[in-house]
Amino acid sequence: MLVVHTRIIHIASIVLVMCAVLLGVYFVGQAKDSTQLTVAVLDVGQGDAILVDGPAGQQILIDAGPDRSILAKLSEYMPFYDHDIELVILTHPHLDHYGGLHEVLNRYKVHHMYITGIVQKSPDYQDLLAQAVEKGVDVQEVWRGTQVDMGSDIHMSIFAPMVNLHDMSMSDLNESSIVAKLVYKQKSFLLTGDATDTEEKALLDAKEDVSADVLKVGHHGSEYSTSDTFLDVVHPNVAAISAGFHNMFGHPSTRLLNRLDRHDIQSFRTDQDGDIVFTTDGDTINVNTSSSRRFHFPWSTAQALYTIY
Ligand SMILES: [Zn+2]
Repeated sequence: MLVVHTRIIHIASIVLVMCAVLLGVYFVGQAKDSTQLTVAVLDVGQGDAILVDGPAGQQILIDAGPDRSILAKLSEYMPFYDHDIELVILTHPHLDHYGGLHEVLNRYKVHHMYITGIVQKSPDYQDLLAQAVEKGVDVQEVWRGTQVDMGSDIHMSIFAPMVNLHDMSMSDLNESSIVAKLVYKQKSFLLTGDATDTEEKALLDAKEDVSADVLKVGHHGSEYSTSDTFLDVVHPNVAAISAGFHNMFGHPSTRLLNRLDRHDIQSFRTDQDGDIVFTTDGDTINVNTSSSRRFHFPWSTAQALYTIY
């Protein structure tokens, strides 16, 4: 019996050691490069969701797409043991931007949430705000001038809306979008929500420094956003477009795509490229895409492109 017991103990030890080795390999695989900032423009269908993941594991989620598909994306890009999202920014209260937030608030500990305070009476949105308060999220209304210090040399400046929109109404909520610039050392990202050319003009008139290496174009690539004048000043190398595969709005518009071409801006789009994942050490930016739809292999999730700027 003693021999049998010893064998069992030996086998158990071997299994334990193997588990430890496998877990070690897994954690090393999950560990982030401590100098890398990731900005993932997620393929959530017709909507917007952008995950900013800092070198110290700090996250900002800008919009959450139309539905619970955001959860699978967050589990893909966040370590499984990280259940905290330091900041959620809701650019404007349209369903294709806040629809997934209910589930995010249920599954993650969201510390802070920035909104604009613009009037949006839909019961769904009111429920979301009540849920945030109930969950203890620090909800703040923000406008031009708000600065976010993420630590690790990462800063975000809120450029729009230009004024406090608390209790104000607007016929086109897109024009109330929070526009923010994310800066990490030498590299920058301009994130424009669904801003229209009217809001872009206000930004230019206010002489904000909107120049950026990467532009997340406004309103899913609508022809009424991302004007020639705006592109002249932002002067990005790369544009990211968040639009649903075969969406009913015809986003992104051919006119917008032509404008990007004329300005010699390389564009990536979630409807063709899947997730668009930028990583930067502050000196160079790499971009990976998750899908091969562009090459007509919709079943493939293999990486399609890898470019260095
Ligand atoms: Zn939208």
